[in-house]
Amino acid sequence: MSVVSLVRVTHDDERGIAEAVRRSIELTGGLEDIVKPGDLVLIKPNLVAVPAGRLTGAITRWEVCKAVADLVKERGARPVIAESSAVGVDTEKVVEAGEYDRLREMGYKVVDLKKSPGAKIKVPDGRVVFSELGSFELVRKANAIISVPVLKTHDQTEVTLSMKNLKGLLDESTKRAFHQKGLLEGVVDLVMTLRPKLMTVVDATIGQEGLGPIFGVPVSMGLVLASKDLVAADAVGSRIMGYDPKEVMITVRAAARGIGEMDLDKIQVVGGATIEEVEKRFKRASETELEGVPPFKLLMTEGACTGCRNTVISSIMDLKSQGLEGSLEGKYIIAGPLDEKSLPEGAKRENTVLVGICARYLQGRGTYAQGCPPNNIFVVRAIVGEDQNIERRYATEKGADA
Ligand code: SF4
Repeated sequence: MSVVSLVRVTHDDERGIAEAVRRSIELTGGLEDIVKPGDLVLIKPNLVAVPAGRLTGAITRWEVCKAVADLVKERGARPVIAESSAVGVDTEKVVEAGEYDRLREMGYKVVDLKKSPGAKIKVPDGRVVFSELGSFELVRKANAIISVPVLKTHDQTEVTLSMKNLKGLLDESTKRAFHQKGLLEGVVDLVMTLRPKLMTVVDATIGQEGLGPIFGVPVSMGLVLASKDLVAADAVGSRIMGYDPKEVMITVRAAARGIGEMDLDKIQVVGGATIEEVEKRFKRASETELEGVPPFKLLMTEGACTGCRNTVISSIMDLKSQGLEGSLEGKYIIAGPLDEKSLPEGAKRENTVLVGICARYLQGRGTYAQGCPPNNIFVVRAIVGEDQNIERRYATEKGADA
């Protein structure tokens, strides 16, 4: 039976978090089976983009990574905290915003993967047409990888937890390709590639609801979760946020490919706290209200899934944050499977944006934003029109979702 530990943080400080992390890992059987003396252990926080503040639930707290690194050191192994932030985002700026430079001052290795040597890793049973993935030498060499995500909602995948967090181990062009060719199955390919020496420690001290991965609202939770079954951890994590794990397509697809257990009845939750005691319904990204934008038509056809729905909402928020929402006026934004006959009257080539590969058959009838779901930047660009400056401004200041 898969085990997920769910431990309360009694004191929200470095020591209290370290105690909770230690207990959560011990309850999963400790690190002995995945970390051997001398091993190189890659600790992967979520440092997706510069947050509004380090305690907003957008990024992993350094205290959690430090606690994991200390346990790795106790095993006589070599911990390295490593991340490549979202496409176009300067990882060092996120490191700075998250105060990870404090860890550097204490002698811990914190690596910006984008500045480290690249490497290809072979995909054993890929579904997203990649036989190898663009990654980094450190990832290829690591003897074990510990995913340390935050408990939060996400505009494209409902939630982002242990598995989605691993996407930060890919180089920029592979991240982009995931969005073009299939993000959900691509993440599962990645997890299958990195197995078997994987585990997760989820920073659920402060979660984030609403428009994740960075524009959401913090939710104080005071928890740490750990598991050697990433699917089980993500199923429990999403349930704690009020989702049925079946709503989270990465979890569903990973379980279908036999990577782990998503059935909560078959997962043993240990650590004292129960899911029922700690669960809170997090506001979904799709529940974000779109105020203050000019009139436009948004058509989600029957069959459009939340991936494109949330991407459109998130892209509109991105436009607003750039002062570009005026570009929406009179536009028809359409996502999901559709045919010529279902195009609304008034939708012309020049005022129509077709979002996602489900709408690709009509790409000659509007500006097409490719992907499943597309990266926000493709949707933003399709709405605003081709303008090289937009990508640069968007990516460096706000962080393209990746
Ligand atoms: S392209 Fe289709 S399947 Fe993919 S996220 Fe959009 S609506 Fe869903």
